Amino acid sequence: PNTTSKYPITARPPASESLPPPIPGKANATLVFLARNSDLQGVLKSMRSVERHFNSRYKYPWVFLNEEEFTDEFKADVMTMTNASVQFGVIPARHWYQPEWIDEARAEQGRKAMQELDVIYADSVSYRNMCRFNSGFFFRHPLLQPYRYYWRIEPDVEYFCEINYDPFDYLEENNKTYGFTITLVELHRTVLTLWDAVKEFMEQYPQYIAENNAMRFISDNGGDTYNLCHFWSNFEISDMDFWRSEAYTKFFEFLDSKGGFYYERWGDAPVHSIAAALFLDKNQLHFFNDIGYQHSTIMHCPQQPLFLKNSCTCNRVHTIDYRQHSCLMKYNKMLTGRW
Ligand code: GDP
Ligand code: MN
Repeated sequence: PNTTSKYPITARPPASESLPPPIPGKANATLVFLARNSDLQGVLKSMRSVERHFNSRYKYPWVFLNEEEFTDEFKADVMTMTNASVQFGVIPARHWYQPEWIDEARAEQGRKAMQELDVIYADSVSYRNMCRFNSGFFFRHPLLQPYRYYWRIEPDVEYFCEINYDPFDYLEENNKTYGFTITLVELHRTVLTLWDAVKEFMEQYPQYIAENNAMRFISDNGGDTYNLCHFWSNFEISDMDFWRSEAYTKFFEFLDSKGGFYYERWGDAPVHSIAAALFLDKNQLHFFNDIGYQHSTIMHCPQQPLFLKNSCTCNRVHTIDYRQHSCLMKYNKMLTGRW
């Protein structure tokens, strides 16, 4: 029977009809989850959402990382949430803790100054460890060595739409490297000297800057200053080979040597984003518009016709995309080359 006009445009297809058959994914990919034992409840919530909307059909393996051993309770509860394989890894101390050569007095001063301005996580050393780890180390973990693509998951996130195709496969087939759903402006106070370091790097290593780059997404004046736009890294579906590349390795080492992960509070989101914008062809970036996603109070909800097509359950009006803090419109203008 001809099914093209079976449903009026305003009606939702029954969810069962929008699901592909349960065929395990074939990409060389994994779901990566950095978490503390104390994150358990939020971890389970996120896993349930990812499994329901995607992974119960594709069965990509999960990898959990922590700087401490996961407890038996954590492991047992996590394993009840999926039929896919799960691995738990401990992060080597040198990939996590504040390095010896950081001037702790200066770092402490930086934290205090930031705290007076009420910046979120101003005083937290562990948050800085996490940002540095996500910037320069997660993809070097032994458990991630077999994999090329990863999907980053955090506690207490929610997915709202059926993901009826394999995003890893999509990246591979379309020669994409970095995928995101939300793009925002960073808190200026956390990255005061980051752009100075980036400019210095660009002068020293011009060979790494892509010809058709996305500089216009991150700078409004041809690279003079950073406009604070970044991809929100709590969601990433990307290619770890990029983080393992010579360009990014040099870039991370250069930034790390400045100490800004501790003297300031450089986030892995601006660090990843700036690298992706400068070292990749802008066509290697991908906006996963069809993936409805929420972290904390910020959400990306697809608009029509994707909303109905993918059986989404978010409130479309509350999507971040057209709000002031979103950089999506800047991203779109950058792509089309129009200002
Ligand atoms: P936010 O999203 O920026 O507010 O930061 P989160 O608290 O969500 O932390 C980001 C990610 O790092 C989450 O997956 C956390 O579970 C994880 N994380 C943060 N701090 C630590 C830590 O000290 N140890 C471990 N193992 N994971 C952490
Ligand atoms: Mn988070």
